[in-house]
Amino acid sequence: MAKTQQADFVVLGAGPGGYACAFRAADLGRDVLLIDPRPQLGGVCLNEGCIPSKALLHVAQIIRESRAMADWGVAFTPPRLDLAKLRDRKDSVVRQLTGGLGQLARKRHVKTVQGTAQFTGPNQVRVTSRDGDREIDIHFKDAVIAVGSRPVKLPGWPEDNRIMDSTKALALPTIPNRLAIVGGGIIGLEMATVYSALGSDVTIIELGEQIIPGADRDAVRILHKALQEHGCTVQTTTRVCEVNVEKSHISLVCTGGFDGTITADAVIQAVGRIANGDKIACEAVGIRVSDRGEIDVDAQCRTGQAGIYAIGDVTGAPMLAHRATHQGKVAAETACQHAAAMAENLVPSVVYTDPELAWVGIGQQQAKDQDIAHKTTSFPWAASGRNLASNGNDGLTKLVYCPQTNRVLGACIVGANAGELIGELVLAIEMGATLEDIALTIHAHPTLSETIAFAAERALGTLTDL
Ligand code: NAD
Repeated sequence: MAKTQQADFVVLGAGPGGYACAFRAADLGRDVLLIDPRPQLGGVCLNEGCIPSKALLHVAQIIRESRAMADWGVAFTPPRLDLAKLRDRKDSVVRQLTGGLGQLARKRHVKTVQGTAQFTGPNQVRVTSRDGDREIDIHFKDAVIAVGSRPVKLPGWPEDNRIMDSTKALALPTIPNRLAIVGGGIIGLEMATVYSALGSDVTIIELGEQIIPGADRDAVRILHKALQEHGCTVQTTTRVCEVNVEKSHISLVCTGGFDGTITADAVIQAVGRIANGDKIACEAVGIRVSDRGEIDVDAQCRTGQAGIYAIGDVTGAPMLAHRATHQGKVAAETACQHAAAMAENLVPSVVYTDPELAWVGIGQQQAKDQDIAHKTTSFPWAASGRNLASNGNDGLTKLVYCPQTNRVLGACIVGANAGELIGELVLAIEMGATLEDIALTIHAHPTLSETIAFAAERALGTLTDL
């Protein structure tokens, strides 16, 4: 017999969307219950996504930079890898952050329940413990669905320990000599950046015409070339049509841009994620779930069912932690009768490769496809003093703007720290800034942020640095 409990505000899922929502609702005076199957808070992002991958990407960057120093007359002996220590250090970063979240929850009196939640009727969820022997029926006033997503598994592939998803790849089981990565999207390229620096011979197999399909072509060309310089082989327009698992290796028979067989010691599948909306019995509350597990929401994250909101990956692309966090706050504030809305055009995307690739707002191709009046301006990083002085790779800062008003509509940056630099352009779009505003903002010299001002000045005809 399930225990029953009353709750004012329940949040299903304690990832970056769910915990932000729970904390904001608690700060606004609600009595909050946060449900997640994991014993610790943080979801995929903290436990097996953004944070562990960034820890490994940091190591990859140091390895690459130390190698590059030979050209500057500073030679280091090649790094010796202690894989167990590297794993421990990465895991300790995760522990520190998830522990901190637990404390933040307690300080706010947010109660947590460990288990899997499913709707059982209007205003009711059942939480089942991992071993299935404890059940609690919770009657809620408001609920927020923040149950995230899971990696897509390619159909028909055999089960084998050496065929990994992103979670397993981040656990760093070994460093394979030959690593094939299926999917040249964000996860595929970040994993290529880590494993190629740690010594794997990496081949990326991408179905689309370019890696990171949809991102700015000029910027992607620069990233593609850099990956090749890091020793990665990139095969685009290529499909794996047969997988053979042998004792000594895995062979992938490919067709398309590359016709032939790729032999690898391990394979990472990184072909996208599918939302978990199909896992929570939404039919019990009359919420429609798409065949990709997604739930439709409006700008206030309302599902159409009174008192039930959805946020984060379960609401579809872009599946990004910071989008989920922002939606979480919007949902909490809306549920507390505050005016709030989600601005999807202000969600930046960042690929933490070397160099990084970041973009926000309307892209050049999107503007063309949708007949949006636009012009573009750009600044090549080969002319940036700071980039050259810091051994920076090739890079580009591109702005898309309205030809009538000069307002910034979108931006894309490829280069070192692009993920940090894009923040200025998110703010520019949010404030309705024009090229003149950016050009009148005095950027410190020598910095990479100057490339943003230079791109604006180039369009205005006031640039003296090119
Ligand atoms: P993705 O959608 O970014 O990329 C998947 C790639 O796989 C695409 O390029 C697609 O064309 C390709 N593909 C699909 N089927 C294929 C096939 N059969 N063979 C070869 N290629 C195929 O998905 P992802 O990289 O798996 O990432 C999943 C989600 O996680 C994304 O929404 C991403 O935004 C998010 N994520 C974000 C970050 C970040 O913000 N830095 C990091 C990791 C993941």
